[in-house]
Amino acid sequence: AAVTADSLPTRSTADWRALDAAHSLHPFTDYKALAAEGSRIITRADGCSLWDSEGTEILDGMAGLWCVNVGYGRRELVDAAARQMAELPYYNLFFKTATPPAIELSRRLAEITPHGLDHVFFTNSGSEANDTVIRMVRQYWALEGRPERRVIIGRQNGYHGSTVAAAAMGGMSAMHKQGGPPLPDFHHIREPHHFKYAHDQDPEVFGLEAARWLDEAIQAIGPGRVAAFIAEPVQGAGGLIVPPPGYWAEIQRICVHHDVLLIADEVICGFGRTGQWFGSQTFGIRPDIMTLAKGLSSGYLPIAAVMVGQRVARTLFDKGGEFVHGFTYSGHPTACAVALETISIMDRERLVERVREDVGPYLMERLGTLRDHPLVGEVRGRGLMAGVELIRDRASHAFFSPAGKVGTRCRDHCFNANVIIRAVADTMILSPPLVISRAQIDRLVSALAEALDRTQRDLPDLDLA
Ligand code: PMP
Repeated sequence: AAVTADSLPTRSTADWRALDAAHSLHPFTDYKALAAEGSRIITRADGCSLWDSEGTEILDGMAGLWCVNVGYGRRELVDAAARQMAELPYYNLFFKTATPPAIELSRRLAEITPHGLDHVFFTNSGSEANDTVIRMVRQYWALEGRPERRVIIGRQNGYHGSTVAAAAMGGMSAMHKQGGPPLPDFHHIREPHHFKYAHDQDPEVFGLEAARWLDEAIQAIGPGRVAAFIAEPVQGAGGLIVPPPGYWAEIQRICVHHDVLLIADEVICGFGRTGQWFGSQTFGIRPDIMTLAKGLSSGYLPIAAVMVGQRVARTLFDKGGEFVHGFTYSGHPTACAVALETISIMDRERLVERVREDVGPYLMERLGTLRDHPLVGEVRGRGLMAGVELIRDRASHAFFSPAGKVGTRCRDHCFNANVIIRAVADTMILSPPLVISRAQIDRLVSALAEALDRTQRDLPDLDLA
Protein backbone atom coordinates (compact mmCIF):
# COMPACT_ATOMS: atom_id res chain seq x y z
CA ALA A 1 0.00 0.00 0.00
CA ALA A 2 1.12 3.56 -0.68
CA VAL A 3 2.71 5.32 2.25
CA THR A 4 1.39 8.85 2.77
CA ALA A 5 2.23 11.39 5.42
CA ASP A 6 -0.89 10.42 7.33
CA SER A 7 -0.15 6.75 7.31
CA LEU A 8 3.58 6.50 7.90
CA PRO A 9 4.08 2.96 9.09
CA THR A 10 5.07 2.81 12.72
CA ARG A 11 7.79 0.25 12.96
CA SER A 12 9.94 -1.03 15.73
CA THR A 13 13.37 0.51 16.10
CA ALA A 14 14.88 -2.80 15.05
CA ASP A 15 12.84 -2.83 11.82
CA TRP A 16 13.76 0.75 11.00
CA ARG A 17 17.42 -0.01 11.58
CA ALA A 18 17.31 -3.08 9.40
CA LEU A 19 15.58 -1.24 6.54
CA ASP A 20 17.97 1.69 6.87
CA ALA A 21 20.93 -0.65 6.72
CA ALA A 22 19.42 -2.50 3.77
CA HIS A 23 18.74 0.52 1.57
CA SER A 24 20.12 3.85 2.70
CA LEU A 25 23.57 5.19 1.86
CA HIS A 26 24.25 7.94 4.40
CA PRO A 27 26.37 11.03 3.62
CA PHE A 28 29.94 11.12 4.94
CA THR A 29 29.61 7.61 6.38
CA ASP A 30 31.70 4.45 6.50
CA TYR A 31 29.09 1.92 5.37
CA LYS A 32 30.78 -1.07 6.86
CA ALA A 33 31.13 0.59 10.24
CA LEU A 34 27.54 1.89 10.28
CA ALA A 35 26.13 -1.48 9.25
CA ALA A 36 27.85 -3.04 12.26
CA GLU A 37 26.43 -0.45 14.64
CA GLY A 38 23.03 0.62 13.23
CA SER A 39 21.51 4.10 13.04
CA ARG A 40 19.74 5.96 15.77
CA ILE A 41 16.30 6.75 14.37
CA ILE A 42 15.18 10.35 14.98
CA THR A 43 11.42 10.71 14.81
CA ARG A 44 10.46 14.19 16.02
CA ALA A 45 11.75 17.44 17.46
CA ASP A 46 10.72 20.55 19.35
CA GLY A 47 12.70 23.60 20.44
CA CYS A 48 16.28 22.38 20.97
CA SER A 49 15.31 18.75 21.52
CA LEU A 50 15.06 15.70 19.32
CA TRP A 51 13.34 12.42 20.15
CA ASP A 52 14.46 9.03 18.94
CA SER A 53 12.27 6.05 18.09
CA GLU A 54 12.60 4.74 21.66
CA GLY A 55 11.08 7.98 22.97
CA THR A 56 14.38 9.24 24.40
CA GLU A 57 14.89 13.00 24.39
CA ILE A 58 18.21 14.30 23.00
CA LEU A 59 19.52 17.86 23.38
CA ASP A 60 20.75 19.10 20.00
CA GLY A 61 23.95 21.03 20.58
CA MET A 62 24.58 21.25 16.81
CA ALA A 63 21.25 22.70 15.58
CA GLY A 64 21.04 19.79 13.16
CA LEU A 65 24.03 20.57 10.95
CA TRP A 66 24.59 24.16 12.13
CA CYS A 67 21.27 25.14 10.60
CA VAL A 68 18.15 24.98 12.79
CA ASN A 69 18.79 28.45 14.20
CA VAL A 70 15.22 29.27 15.24
CA GLY A 71 14.74 25.82 16.79
CA TYR A 72 12.43 22.96 15.88
CA GLY A 73 8.65 22.89 15.92
CA ARG A 74 7.93 26.38 14.55
CA ARG A 75 4.26 26.52 13.61
CA GLU A 76 4.86 29.82 11.74
CA LEU A 77 7.17 28.07 9.29
CA VAL A 78 4.79 25.18 8.76
CA ASP A 79 1.99 27.66 8.06
CA ALA A 80 4.16 29.73 5.69
CA ALA A 81 4.98 26.60 3.70
CA ALA A 82 1.37 25.40 3.65
CA ARG A 83 0.04 28.79 2.53
CA GLN A 84 2.58 29.04 -0.27
CA MET A 85 2.05 25.45 -1.40
CA ALA A 86 -1.68 26.06 -1.67
CA GLU A 87 -1.16 29.33 -3.59
CA LEU A 88 1.75 28.44 -5.88
CA PRO A 89 3.81 25.40 -4.88
CA TYR A 90 6.35 25.77 -7.65
CA TYR A 91 7.34 27.94 -10.49
CA ASN A 92 10.71 28.78 -11.97
CA LEU A 93 12.65 31.95 -12.70
CA PHE A 94 13.96 30.78 -16.10
CA PHE A 95 11.31 31.97 -18.57
CA LYS A 96 11.47 35.73 -17.87
CA THR A 97 9.19 34.81 -14.96
CA ALA A 98 9.37 35.63 -11.26
CA THR A 99 7.29 34.81 -8.18
CA PRO A 100 6.33 37.02 -5.23
CA PRO A 101 8.16 34.96 -2.56
CA ALA A 102 11.43 35.00 -4.55
CA ILE A 103 11.05 38.74 -5.18
CA GLU A 104 10.28 39.53 -1.54
CA LEU A 105 13.12 37.36 -0.26
CA SER A 106 15.62 38.97 -2.66
CA ARG A 107 14.59 42.40 -1.42
CA ARG A 108 14.79 41.35 2.22
CA LEU A 109 18.23 39.74 1.78
CA ALA A 110 19.54 42.87 0.05
CA GLU A 111 18.29 44.81 3.08
CA ILE A 112 19.86 42.69 5.84
CA THR A 113 23.19 41.81 4.19
CA PRO A 114 26.06 44.33 4.31
CA HIS A 115 26.07 47.33 2.02
CA GLY A 116 26.28 46.72 -1.72
CA LEU A 117 25.30 43.05 -1.72
CA ASP A 118 22.04 43.82 -3.49
CA HIS A 119 21.57 40.98 -5.99
CA VAL A 120 20.67 37.38 -5.27
CA PHE A 121 21.10 34.12 -7.16
CA PHE A 122 19.13 31.32 -5.46
CA THR A 123 20.22 27.70 -5.19
CA ASN A 124 19.18 24.73 -3.04
CA SER A 125 22.31 24.06 -1.05
CA GLY A 126 25.51 25.66 0.11
CA SER A 127 27.45 23.47 -2.30
CA GLU A 128 25.42 24.71 -5.24
CA ALA A 129 25.78 28.31 -4.06
CA ASN A 130 29.56 27.91 -4.04
CA ASP A 131 29.52 26.16 -7.43
CA THR A 132 27.55 29.13 -8.71
CA VAL A 133 30.25 31.44 -7.37
CA ILE A 134 32.95 29.57 -9.31
CA ARG A 135 31.04 30.02 -12.55
CA MET A 136 30.08 33.58 -11.78
CA VAL A 137 33.52 34.94 -10.89
CA ARG A 138 35.05 33.31 -13.96
CA GLN A 139 32.26 34.77 -16.09
CA TYR A 140 32.90 38.15 -14.45
CA TRP A 141 36.59 38.11 -15.37
CA ALA A 142 35.80 36.87 -18.88
CA LEU A 143 33.39 39.76 -19.36
CA GLU A 144 36.06 42.11 -18.04
CA GLY A 145 38.35 40.87 -20.82
CA ARG A 146 40.56 38.93 -18.36
CA PRO A 147 39.59 35.26 -18.93
CA GLU A 148 43.00 34.13 -17.69
CA ARG A 149 41.98 35.15 -14.16
CA ARG A 150 40.58 31.73 -13.31
CA VAL A 151 42.38 30.50 -10.21
CA ILE A 152 40.38 30.48 -6.99
CA ILE A 153 42.30 30.36 -3.73
CA GLY A 154 40.73 28.72 -0.69
CA ARG A 155 42.15 27.42 2.57
CA GLN A 156 43.25 24.04 3.86
CA ASN A 157 40.43 22.47 5.85
CA GLY A 158 38.04 25.04 4.43
CA TYR A 159 34.64 23.51 3.65
CA HIS A 160 32.58 24.82 0.76
CA GLY A 161 30.49 21.77 -0.09
CA SER A 162 30.48 18.32 -1.58
CA THR A 163 29.80 18.79 -5.29
CA VAL A 164 32.84 18.05 -7.44
CA ALA A 165 33.73 21.72 -7.83
CA ALA A 166 32.89 22.87 -4.28
CA ALA A 167 34.98 20.01 -2.88
CA ALA A 168 37.90 21.08 -5.08
CA MET A 169 37.54 24.67 -3.88
CA GLY A 170 37.38 23.49 -0.27
CA GLY A 171 40.51 22.26 1.44
CA MET A 172 39.49 18.88 2.83
CA SER A 173 42.29 16.50 1.88
CA ALA A 174 40.15 13.38 2.43
CA MET A 175 37.68 14.71 -0.14
CA HIS A 176 40.45 15.55 -2.60
CA LYS A 177 41.79 12.01 -2.36
CA GLN A 178 38.52 10.41 -3.47
CA GLY A 179 37.34 10.47 -7.04
CA GLY A 180 40.34 11.04 -9.22
CA PRO A 181 42.73 13.84 -10.07
CA PRO A 182 42.04 17.31 -8.69
CA LEU A 183 40.28 19.94 -10.78
CA PRO A 184 42.64 22.55 -12.20
CA ASP A 185 42.80 26.19 -11.11
CA PHE A 186 42.19 25.76 -7.38
CA HIS A 187 44.80 26.51 -4.78
CA HIS A 188 44.82 26.39 -0.96
CA ILE A 189 46.69 28.32 1.67
CA ARG A 190 47.04 27.25 5.29
CA GLU A 191 44.22 28.18 7.61
CA PRO A 192 44.87 30.75 10.40
CA HIS A 193 44.92 28.10 13.11
CA HIS A 194 46.83 29.82 15.91
CA PHE A 195 46.69 26.88 18.29
CA LYS A 196 47.99 24.41 15.70
CA TYR A 197 50.67 26.48 13.98
CA ALA A 198 51.82 29.08 16.45
CA HIS A 199 50.42 28.72 19.95
CA ASP A 200 53.39 30.48 21.52
CA GLN A 201 53.29 33.41 19.12
CA ASP A 202 51.37 36.62 19.80
CA PRO A 203 47.97 36.09 18.11
CA GLU A 204 48.04 39.45 16.38
CA VAL A 205 51.49 38.86 14.92
CA PHE A 206 50.34 35.41 13.79
CA GLY A 207 47.16 36.91 12.27
CA LEU A 208 49.21 39.15 9.98
CA GLU A 209 51.57 36.34 9.10
CA ALA A 210 48.71 33.96 8.25
CA ALA A 211 47.04 36.60 6.06
CA ARG A 212 50.30 37.09 4.20
CA TRP A 213 50.21 33.44 3.13
CA LEU A 214 47.54 34.71 0.74
CA ASP A 215 49.85 37.38 -0.61
CA GLU A 216 52.60 34.80 -1.12
CA ALA A 217 50.22 32.47 -2.96
CA ILE A 218 48.97 35.25 -5.24
CA GLN A 219 52.55 36.26 -6.05
CA ALA A 220 53.51 32.65 -6.76
CA ILE A 221 50.53 31.97 -9.03
CA GLY A 222 50.76 35.38 -10.67
CA PRO A 223 48.21 38.06 -9.75
CA GLY A 224 46.97 38.13 -13.35
CA ARG A 225 45.74 34.55 -13.00
CA VAL A 226 43.87 34.82 -9.71
CA ALA A 227 40.10 35.34 -9.83
CA ALA A 228 39.11 35.22 -6.18
CA PHE A 229 39.83 34.22 -2.62
CA ILE A 230 37.12 32.37 -0.68
CA ALA A 231 36.94 31.71 3.06
CA GLU A 232 34.51 31.20 5.90
CA PRO A 233 34.60 34.09 8.42
CA VAL A 234 35.01 31.45 11.15
CA GLN A 235 36.08 28.10 9.72
CA GLY A 236 33.39 25.62 10.82
CA ALA A 237 33.71 22.03 9.63
CA GLY A 238 37.50 22.47 9.51
CA GLY A 239 37.64 22.62 13.30
CA LEU A 240 36.04 25.87 14.48
CA ILE A 241 38.95 28.15 13.69
CA VAL A 242 38.38 31.70 14.88
CA PRO A 243 40.59 34.11 12.94
CA PRO A 244 43.19 35.93 15.01
CA PRO A 245 42.86 39.71 15.38
CA GLY A 246 43.99 41.59 12.29
CA TYR A 247 43.70 38.58 10.00
CA TRP A 248 40.65 39.65 8.04
CA ALA A 249 41.71 43.30 7.66
CA GLU A 250 44.99 42.15 6.14
CA ILE A 251 43.24 39.63 3.88
CA GLN A 252 40.96 42.41 2.68
CA ARG A 253 43.95 44.69 2.01
CA ILE A 254 45.74 41.96 0.03
CA CYS A 255 42.67 41.25 -2.11
CA VAL A 256 42.22 44.95 -2.89
CA HIS A 257 45.92 45.34 -3.62
CA HIS A 258 45.92 42.49 -6.17
CA ASP A 259 42.42 43.23 -7.47
CA VAL A 260 41.28 39.74 -6.40
CA LEU A 261 37.59 39.25 -5.58
CA LEU A 262 36.84 38.40 -1.94
CA ILE A 263 34.16 35.82 -1.25
CA ALA A 264 32.77 35.14 2.21
CA ASP A 265 31.22 31.71 2.65
CA GLU A 266 28.60 32.58 5.27
CA VAL A 267 26.79 29.25 5.04
CA ILE A 268 27.44 28.64 8.76
CA CYS A 269 28.26 32.14 10.02
CA GLY A 270 25.25 33.84 8.44
CA PHE A 271 21.99 34.48 10.28
CA GLY A 272 23.21 35.32 13.73
CA ARG A 273 25.63 32.51 14.52
CA THR A 274 28.53 34.88 15.37
CA GLY A 275 26.42 37.49 17.18
CA GLN A 276 25.81 39.73 14.17
CA TRP A 277 23.56 38.97 11.23
CA PHE A 278 26.64 37.96 9.24
CA GLY A 279 30.16 36.90 10.14
CA SER A 280 31.38 39.58 7.73
CA GLN A 281 30.00 42.18 10.13
CA THR A 282 31.58 40.52 13.15
CA PHE A 283 35.02 40.56 11.49
CA GLY A 284 34.74 43.76 9.43
CA ILE A 285 34.90 41.98 6.06
CA ARG A 286 33.62 43.73 2.92
CA PRO A 287 33.10 40.80 0.55
CA ASP A 288 32.33 41.14 -3.17
CA ILE A 289 30.19 38.01 -2.95
CA MET A 290 28.68 36.12 -0.03
CA THR A 291 27.11 32.66 0.03
CA LEU A 292 24.24 31.80 2.38
CA ALA A 293 22.36 28.58 3.24
CA LYS A 294 21.50 26.69 6.45
CA GLY A 295 20.15 29.47 8.74
CA LEU A 296 18.44 31.12 5.75
CA SER A 297 15.50 28.76 6.24
CA SER A 298 16.70 27.33 9.56
CA GLY A 299 16.96 24.05 7.68
CA TYR A 300 13.18 23.70 7.34
CA LEU A 301 13.49 23.55 3.54
CA PRO A 302 16.55 23.39 1.30
CA ILE A 303 17.45 26.86 0.06
CA ALA A 304 20.67 28.79 -0.38
CA ALA A 305 21.73 32.04 -2.00
CA VAL A 306 24.63 33.88 -3.58
CA MET A 307 24.64 37.56 -2.63
CA VAL A 308 26.36 39.53 -5.38
CA GLY A 309 27.86 42.96 -4.76
CA GLN A 310 27.85 46.02 -7.01
CA ARG A 311 31.16 45.35 -8.67
CA VAL A 312 30.29 41.94 -10.10
CA ALA A 313 26.61 42.73 -10.64
CA ARG A 314 27.39 45.87 -12.63
CA THR A 315 29.56 43.92 -15.06
CA LEU A 316 26.97 41.15 -15.45
CA PHE A 317 24.27 43.74 -16.18
CA ASP A 318 26.32 46.14 -18.29
CA LYS A 319 28.07 43.64 -20.51
CA GLY A 320 25.15 41.25 -20.88
CA GLY A 321 25.36 37.79 -22.41
CA GLU A 322 23.58 34.81 -20.91
CA PHE A 323 24.77 33.42 -17.58
CA VAL A 324 24.42 29.78 -18.59
CA HIS A 325 23.69 28.39 -15.14
CA GLY A 326 20.80 27.59 -12.80
CA PHE A 327 18.71 24.97 -11.08
CA THR A 328 15.13 23.77 -11.48
CA TYR A 329 14.51 24.87 -7.90
CA SER A 330 16.41 28.19 -7.95
CA GLY A 331 14.08 30.54 -6.09
CA HIS A 332 11.63 27.77 -5.15
CA PRO A 333 8.59 29.75 -3.94
CA THR A 334 7.80 27.51 -0.97
CA ALA A 335 11.40 27.54 0.24
CA CYS A 336 11.50 31.33 -0.25
CA ALA A 337 8.29 31.78 1.78
CA VAL A 338 9.79 29.74 4.62
CA ALA A 339 13.05 31.72 4.46
CA LEU A 340 11.13 35.01 4.64
CA GLU A 341 9.25 33.83 7.70
CA THR A 342 12.51 32.58 9.28
CA ILE A 343 13.98 36.08 8.94
CA SER A 344 10.81 37.55 10.46
CA ILE A 345 11.12 35.25 13.47
CA MET A 346 14.78 36.27 13.92
CA ASP A 347 13.67 39.92 13.84
CA ARG A 348 10.67 39.55 16.13
CA GLU A 349 12.56 37.55 18.73
CA ARG A 350 15.77 39.59 18.44
CA LEU A 351 17.75 36.38 18.14
CA VAL A 352 20.91 38.07 16.86
CA GLU A 353 21.08 40.32 19.93
CA ARG A 354 20.29 37.31 22.09
CA VAL A 355 23.36 35.51 20.76
CA ARG A 356 25.59 38.58 21.05
CA GLU A 357 24.53 39.75 24.49
CA ASP A 358 23.20 36.75 26.35
CA VAL A 359 23.59 33.12 25.31
CA GLY A 360 26.80 33.57 23.27
CA PRO A 361 28.85 35.01 26.15
CA TYR A 362 27.17 32.55 28.54
CA LEU A 363 28.21 29.55 26.43
CA MET A 364 31.82 30.77 26.32
CA GLU A 365 31.81 31.45 30.05
CA ARG A 366 30.50 27.98 30.86
CA LEU A 367 32.90 26.26 28.43
CA GLY A 368 35.69 28.22 30.07
CA THR A 369 35.20 26.03 33.15
CA LEU A 370 36.59 23.10 31.11
CA ARG A 371 39.92 24.83 30.48
CA ASP A 372 41.60 23.08 33.39
CA HIS A 373 40.60 19.60 32.29
CA PRO A 374 43.71 17.56 31.46
CA LEU A 375 42.41 16.77 27.94
CA VAL A 376 41.59 20.36 27.02
CA GLY A 377 44.18 22.33 25.06
CA GLU A 378 42.04 25.27 24.04
CA VAL A 379 38.47 26.57 24.23
CA ARG A 380 37.61 28.95 21.42
CA GLY A 381 34.53 30.40 19.79
CA ARG A 382 32.47 33.39 18.79
CA GLY A 383 28.77 33.95 19.36
CA LEU A 384 27.04 30.57 19.51
CA MET A 385 29.75 28.49 17.86
CA ALA A 386 32.51 26.99 19.92
CA GLY A 387 35.29 24.42 19.77
CA VAL A 388 37.05 22.56 22.57
CA GLU A 389 40.36 21.16 21.33
CA LEU A 390 41.52 17.95 23.00
CA ILE A 391 45.25 17.29 23.21
CA ARG A 392 47.53 14.57 24.56
CA ASP A 393 49.82 16.69 26.66
CA ARG A 394 49.19 20.24 27.78
CA ALA A 395 52.79 20.88 28.81
CA SER A 396 54.39 19.92 25.52
CA HIS A 397 51.34 20.92 23.52
CA ALA A 398 51.23 17.53 21.81
CA PHE A 399 48.24 16.45 19.73
CA PHE A 400 46.86 12.92 19.73
CA SER A 401 48.03 10.56 17.05
CA PRO A 402 46.27 9.33 15.09
CA ALA A 403 43.93 12.33 15.19
CA GLY A 404 40.22 11.70 15.53
CA LYS A 405 40.00 8.65 17.79
CA VAL A 406 39.77 10.65 21.01
CA GLY A 407 37.29 13.16 19.57
CA THR A 408 35.09 10.39 18.22
CA ARG A 409 35.11 8.59 21.58
CA CYS A 410 34.19 11.80 23.40
CA ARG A 411 31.39 12.47 20.91
CA ASP A 412 30.04 8.94 21.44
CA HIS A 413 29.99 9.54 25.19
CA CYS A 414 28.01 12.75 24.64
CA PHE A 415 25.63 10.95 22.31
CA ASN A 416 25.13 8.12 24.82
CA ALA A 417 24.27 10.79 27.39
CA ASN A 418 21.63 12.10 24.95
CA VAL A 419 23.44 15.29 24.02
CA ILE A 420 24.64 15.98 20.49
CA ILE A 421 28.10 17.53 20.42
CA ARG A 422 30.08 16.91 17.26
CA ALA A 423 33.75 16.08 16.86
CA VAL A 424 35.98 17.35 14.04
CA ALA A 425 39.16 15.31 14.46
CA ASP A 426 39.89 15.96 18.15
CA THR A 427 37.97 19.21 18.46
CA MET A 428 34.54 19.04 20.11
CA ILE A 429 32.14 21.40 18.35
CA LEU A 430 29.04 23.17 19.66
CA SER A 431 26.64 25.15 17.48
CA PRO A 432 23.23 25.00 19.16
CA PRO A 433 19.98 26.65 18.04
CA LEU A 434 20.00 30.39 18.75
CA VAL A 435 16.95 29.90 20.99
CA ILE A 436 18.82 27.70 23.45
CA SER A 437 18.28 28.59 27.12
CA ARG A 438 20.93 29.06 29.79
CA ALA A 439 19.71 25.90 31.52
CA GLN A 440 20.16 23.95 28.29
CA ILE A 441 23.67 25.37 27.88
CA ASP A 442 24.42 24.15 31.42
CA ARG A 443 23.24 20.71 30.41
CA LEU A 444 25.43 20.70 27.26
CA VAL A 445 28.52 21.75 29.18
CA SER A 446 28.04 19.34 32.06
CA ALA A 447 27.47 16.48 29.61
CA LEU A 448 30.68 17.46 27.85
CA ALA A 449 32.57 17.60 31.16
CA GLU A 450 31.35 14.12 32.03
CA ALA A 451 32.22 12.84 28.55
CA LEU A 452 35.74 14.28 28.89
CA ASP A 453 36.24 12.37 32.14
CA ARG A 454 35.02 9.14 30.56
CA THR A 455 37.18 9.71 27.49
CA GLN A 456 40.20 10.22 29.65
CA ARG A 457 39.55 6.91 31.40
CA ASP A 458 39.28 5.26 27.96
CA LEU A 459 42.63 6.53 26.65
CA PRO A 460 44.52 3.28 27.32
CA ASP A 461 41.97 1.38 25.17
CA LEU A 462 42.23 3.71 22.20
CA ASP A 463 45.39 2.37 20.60
CA LEU A 464 47.08 5.74 20.45
CA ALA A 465 50.68 6.30 19.45
N1 PMP B 1 29.90 26.05 3.10
C1 PMP B 1 30.04 25.85 4.42
C2 PMP B 1 30.84 26.83 5.21
C3 PMP B 1 29.43 24.76 5.02
O1 PMP B 1 29.59 24.54 6.34
C4 PMP B 1 28.65 23.88 4.25
C5 PMP B 1 27.93 22.69 4.85
N2 PMP B 1 28.35 22.24 6.07
C6 PMP B 1 28.56 24.12 2.87
C7 PMP B 1 29.18 25.22 2.34
C8 PMP B 1 27.81 23.20 1.97
O2 PMP B 1 26.45 23.32 2.17
P1 PMP B 1 25.46 22.12 1.73
O3 PMP B 1 25.74 20.97 2.61
O4 PMP B 1 24.10 22.75 1.94
O5 PMP B 1 25.71 21.85 0.30
